[in-house]
Amino acid sequence: MTVLDVESVPFAHTEITPGAVAAATRVLQSGWVTTGPEVLAFEREFGAWVEAEQAVAVSSCTAALELALRAFALPVGSRVLISTLTFCGAAHAVVHAGLVPVLADVDERTQMPSARTTAEACTRAGGVAAMVVVHLGGHPAPVAELTAAAGLRAERVVEDAAHAVGSYDHGRHVGSASAATCFSFYATKNLPIGEGGMVTTADPDLAATMRRARLHGMSSDAWRRYLPGGSWRYSVEAPGLKANMTDLQAAIGREQLTHLAAWQNRRRALADRYDRGLAELPALALPARPADGGHAWHLYAVRVLTQDRDVLVGQLAAAGIGTSVHFIPLHHMPYFRAMCAAPEELRTADLVATQLLSLPLHPALTDRQVDRVCDVLATHLAARVVAPSTPIQRSTS
Ligand SMILES: *Cc1c(COP(=O)(O)O)cnc(C)c1O
Repeated sequence: MTVLDVESVPFAHTEITPGAVAAATRVLQSGWVTTGPEVLAFEREFGAWVEAEQAVAVSSCTAALELALRAFALPVGSRVLISTLTFCGAAHAVVHAGLVPVLADVDERTQMPSARTTAEACTRAGGVAAMVVVHLGGHPAPVAELTAAAGLRAERVVEDAAHAVGSYDHGRHVGSASAATCFSFYATKNLPIGEGGMVTTADPDLAATMRRARLHGMSSDAWRRYLPGGSWRYSVEAPGLKANMTDLQAAIGREQLTHLAAWQNRRRALADRYDRGLAELPALALPARPADGGHAWHLYAVRVLTQDRDVLVGQLAAAGIGTSVHFIPLHHMPYFRAMCAAPEELRTADLVATQLLSLPLHPALTDRQVDRVCDVLATHLAARVVAPSTPIQRSTS
């Protein structure tokens, strides 16, 4: 290891285990690389891990969200409530499903919509037909409470669990309080494959609809038509997407899944270490912890209260520490701004968007690296808090 490797702290890291590399090689050499038996096995194993009855593997979480919303068969142009503080892909899924996003403001402490901001956004919009609930950073959102606040039934709610593999609510893995729950296997997510997604549901009819829709709308198990003895016949009864998962991805996912529990333990330990290391810095608000649930710790996002966040980002970068911001509010993007609620109605999101700072968090992070991030933060933040009028400090912001 070079000195730079010891000192620098990358924001994210994609770990592909030796077992996953071997599994990928095995699939590549097998002659069957697209959707097939590995996908079926991954659906079974992932479904068991998150305690879901049905699991449908797809090409991304974005595709999962679109498939779930399409499966609701709402009239074109129906309104769908979504947090303004989420990834743009989730809102694009709403648009591509033929629906219109309605943006909800967030709670300052959790940075997710609360029952109050949900009800307010729904009233302003004159009601919504469906809702996407995000478990931001891995903090389980109170899905049932938000569903009631939106005046919806659980059958019209989709959970965006891109951050929430390993999140628990009242002792159960997230995903049982809505019609469909969408997971991501993107390179930086808690269960990395590179690309990929899964949608889980307890409703076999919804699962069957999404299974067809993920592969051109062709009748179920269309992939089998190239197997020996498979039939070439198929039917199409609805417009489908090309959003199937490949056996190559699934084989990697199956191997990675065997490490997930250990990775989640490590994420928890790292979050605890950040909490201890940053507890004495009043300049930071540390991430909220769920009252009765398990945080998946996809992100460790602090809020910078007394100093310019972007200056601090630069100071951390100069020290070799990678950071990110989750997220730029959707209403700050020209495309969504033109389509959605007026910006002055999303004030808390505007405020926290200037404060949020995601620190490095991934299972390969060492205790020493976490301590270094805490030390560098203390150096820059303590100076400002103790001597707010020091001219040298002021000139840096
Ligand atoms: C990553 C992410 C997505 C999209 O996941 P993909 O698998 O890349 O499509 C959706 N929502 C949130 C909150 C995300 O962070």
